[in-house]
Amino acid sequence: MAKYTPMIQQYLSIKAEVPDAFLFFRLGDFYEMFFEDAERAAKELEITLTSREGGEERIPMCGVPFHSAEVYIARLIEKGHKVAICEQVEDPATAKGVVKREVVRVVTPGTVMEEKMLTERENNFLAAFIRRQDYWALAAADLSTGEFYVTESSGGSDTVIDELAAFQPKEVLVREGEEHPSPHGLRQRLGTLVTSVPGGDILGRERLSQALSDQFPGHEKVWSSPYILEAAGLLLIYLRQTQKRFLTHLNRIERYDARQYMVLDPAARQTLELTASLKDGKRKGSLLWLLDRTATAMGSRLLKKWMDKPLLDPAEIGKRQDAVAALLENPILLEEVRDRLKEVYDLERLSARIAYGSANGRDLQALRRSLEALPSLQSLLTDADHSLARLAKEMDLCNDVKELVERSVAEDPPVSVKEGNLMKEGFDEELDSLRRIQREGRQWIARLQQQEREATGIKSLKVGFNKVFGYYIEVTKANLRHLPEGRYQRKQTLTNAERFVTAELKEKERAILQAEERSMELEYQLFTRVREMIAVEIPRIQRLADQVARLDVLHAFAVISERHHYIRPSVGEQPGLFIEGGRHPVVEAAMDEGGFVANDTAIGRDHGQILLITGPNMAGKSTYMRQVALITLLAQIGCFVPASRAEIGIVDRIFTRIGAADDLVGGRSTFMVEMDETRLALTQATPRSLILLDEVGRGTSTYDGMALAQAIVEYLHERVGAQTLFSTHYHELTRLAEEYPGVVNLHARCVEKDGEVAFLHRMEAGGADKSYGIHVAQLAGMPIGVIQRARVILESLEARSQTAAAQQLDLFQYTAPPEAGGLTPEEEEVLCRLKEWDLLNRTPMESVQLLHEL
Ligand code: ADP
Repeated sequence: MAKYTPMIQQYLSIKAEVPDAFLFFRLGDFYEMFFEDAERAAKELEITLTSREGGEERIPMCGVPFHSAEVYIARLIEKGHKVAICEQVEDPATAKGVVKREVVRVVTPGTVMEEKMLTERENNFLAAFIRRQDYWALAAADLSTGEFYVTESSGGSDTVIDELAAFQPKEVLVREGEEHPSPHGLRQRLGTLVTSVPGGDILGRERLSQALSDQFPGHEKVWSSPYILEAAGLLLIYLRQTQKRFLTHLNRIERYDARQYMVLDPAARQTLELTASLKDGKRKGSLLWLLDRTATAMGSRLLKKWMDKPLLDPAEIGKRQDAVAALLENPILLEEVRDRLKEVYDLERLSARIAYGSANGRDLQALRRSLEALPSLQSLLTDADHSLARLAKEMDLCNDVKELVERSVAEDPPVSVKEGNLMKEGFDEELDSLRRIQREGRQWIARLQQQEREATGIKSLKVGFNKVFGYYIEVTKANLRHLPEGRYQRKQTLTNAERFVTAELKEKERAILQAEERSMELEYQLFTRVREMIAVEIPRIQRLADQVARLDVLHAFAVISERHHYIRPSVGEQPGLFIEGGRHPVVEAAMDEGGFVANDTAIGRDHGQILLITGPNMAGKSTYMRQVALITLLAQIGCFVPASRAEIGIVDRIFTRIGAADDLVGGRSTFMVEMDETRLALTQATPRSLILLDEVGRGTSTYDGMALAQAIVEYLHERVGAQTLFSTHYHELTRLAEEYPGVVNLHARCVEKDGEVAFLHRMEAGGADKSYGIHVAQLAGMPIGVIQRARVILESLEARSQTAAAQQLDLFQYTAPPEAGGLTPEEEEVLCRLKEWDLLNRTPMESVQLLHEL
C-alpha cells in the first residue's frame, strides 16, 4: 500500500469492498477506473486507456464523464457486469487531505432502476434460491416495479429451475458454498448472471427475520417457513447491500403455491412458443406477441405473468371469462376502455422511481395525467351492469395525490430537478417572493436602459449581461464624451466601447442572483418534499396499478377474441378435451382469413385417451397437436379460444416432445434430448396432464425407434393414463388401436392426384394408409433419380411385407420388383444418370468414364 499515493490507497480499500464490480471512482467531473478495471473497461467500452501517477509507478486508468455515465453503465450491465458507483461524500473545498468517498450504490443486471436500462413491457427480476436436500425455496423481486414473490416446494434441481425459468431472471443469487446446481450450470440453463453471496453472520436467522420484518411489517406469516426465510432474506440483504437505501416501494411480499398453477417446464414453453418464437427467439411469432393487445406496459407485464401461470381453478377462470364476455357484449365499451387505458402511464415503475428518489418533475406529471384519465374509466365501467363494475368500484383513484401534483409541480417541468422552473406559482410563499424579487429586479434592469438613454441622450446606450462581470451599461467610444463625469463606475474596456456599472445596478444584480440561487435550492427541497409525500401513498398507487393492469389484460383478451372470432370455452374439473372447429391461434393469424383449416379434437371419457396421429410430413400434425395445447392454455388463463365450441377439463401440466432441437450447450444429442423429455412425461404426468409427443423414436434406427414408440404408447396407456397426442410416421403402430381401447387413430388427410400429393390439413378418423414421404421429397426438388429409386425400393418392401409380414426385412438386399414401368431398376438408373449428365460442361474423358461405369 505504502508505495501508492493516499488517493490510490483510498481507491484500493474501496475496491476491496466490491471486488466483482467495476468501480466508478468519482474524481471531479469524471468517474475514473484504475488497474485491471481500467484495462477491462477500456476494452468493453471502447474508450482510451491512459495512465496516471499513482506513487512509485504509473497505473492504468480510464474514465467517463459523469454526466454521460449512464450510457456506459448501461453497456456494462447489458454485458452482465456490475458497476459500483463511488461518490465524493464531502465538499472538496472544505475537505482536509483526500476527499472522503463511498460506494453509494452497486448497479447489477438484477437491480437496475433506470428507464433506459429496462424493457418497458418486461419485468426485470432478481431471484434467489436455497436448497436443502430435496427441499427448496425461491424468492424473486423486481426492484423497478416493487414486486416480491416467494414460494417453496420439494423436488430435484429440475423443479427449481422450472420455477426460476418462469421469472426469466436477469440475475440469480445463490449462497456461497451451497451452489447446487453449479453457477456455471445455472448460467447455461437460464442464460443469466449468477452471483454467489457470502453467508456468514449477516445471514443468520435472527438477522434475516428482523430485516424482513422491517421491510414488510405485518407479513411475518409469509416467512414462517425456514426455507422461505432464507431465500427471501438472502435476496433482501443483497438488495440492501447494493442499493444502500431503504426501498419503500418494496412493501408487499407475496407467497404463492406453485401447485395452484399449471406446470410448464422450459421445454414446453419453448416448443409451444409461448413468449418467444422458435425461429429466432424473438417475441414476434409467439403466443404472447399475438395476445398482447394491452394498452399499458403494466398490462403487458401482467399478461406475461398470466401466461406463465395458467390457473387450475375453474371458478377463478370463470371470473376472468365473465369480464371478457362483458366487454365483448358492448363494442362501444370495448373501444372507449381502450382509449382511456392508453392515457395511463406505467404506474408501477413511476411509483418505484418515486420511492427510490429518482423520479423527476415529468414523472410526477405523468402520474397526474394517468390519474386524471381514471375517473372516466371508472364511470364507464360502473355505469354498466356487469362483472367489471366491482373491479371499477374498488378503485381508489388517489385524488389527493393528483391534486397535490396539480398544485405543486409546473405543467411542463424540465428534466433536471436542480435547476429550477420545477414548482408551480402559488404553492410556496417563500418561493413566490423569491421569484418576485427576480422578476422585479429584471424589470428594473429592463427599464434602466430606457431611463439612462433619456438621461444621457446617448441613443445607442445598452444594458447587457455576461457571466464574468454580470450586468453592465455599455457606451460606444464615440459617445463617451456625452457621458457626464462620475455618473458610472468604469468596469471593462473593449476596442469600441466602455462598460460601466452603478452601485444600484450591482445591488439589484446581487439580489437577483441570490434569489435565483436560493429559489433553485428551495425548489429542489419542495420537490423532494412533494415526492416524499407521494411516496407515503405508494401502496395505494400500486393497488391501483394492479387493478388497471388486470383490466388491461382482460380488455386485451376481449380485443383478440373479437378480432379472431374466439368463443368462450366451458372449463370444468371433469377431465377431457372436446374441441370443435379448433384452430392454431398464431398460425391462423399469419394466414389470410379462412385459410386455416379447422379441426375437431376429442380426448377423454369414452373417446380414448391417446390419439395416434399418422400422416406425411407437412400434413399439419404438429400444428394440430400444438393447437390443442394452446387452446387448453388459453382457456386456463381466462381468454376465449379459437374454436367454434370447446369443453376443457382442467389440465395440470403440459409436456411436450416436439421437433429435433439439439441441446448444443448441454452437449446432448438429439436422441438423448428426445428420450429425456419423454422420460419426464412418462414419470411425472398424471391423468390430468396433456402430453404431446411428436415422432418419438425418429432419432434412432427404424426398428429401434418403432419398438420404443410402441412401448411408450403402451406404457402411457397402461400406467400413466395422461391425455396424449402422439404423432408417428410408423403406420405399423396404428394397429395398437385394435389392442388398446384407449388408443384412437387419427390421420392427416391428403389427396393424391397425378402423382402429386395435396395436404388438406384435415384430421380424420383412422390411420393413414400410406406414407407420402417420397412425394414430399419430390416436392422439395430431390433429384428425380433418387425419387424413382425410392419408389422402386418402397414397392419391393411393401410386396415383401405382404408375403412375409413376420420376417425381418433386409433393407440392403435388393429384389427386382415384379413390374417397374417396363424397365428394371438398373435400367432406370442408367437412364437417369444419362439424362442428368451435363455433357457440355464435362471433359470427353469424364464422359467416357461414365459410360464405362454404367
Ligand atoms: P407436420 O407436423 O405434419 O410435418 P406441420 O404441422 O409442421 O406438419 O404443418 C406444415 C405446414 O402446414 C405448416 O407450416 C402450416 O403452414 C401448414 N398447416 C398446418 N396445419 C394447417 C391447417 N390446419 N390449416 C392450414 N395450414 C396448415
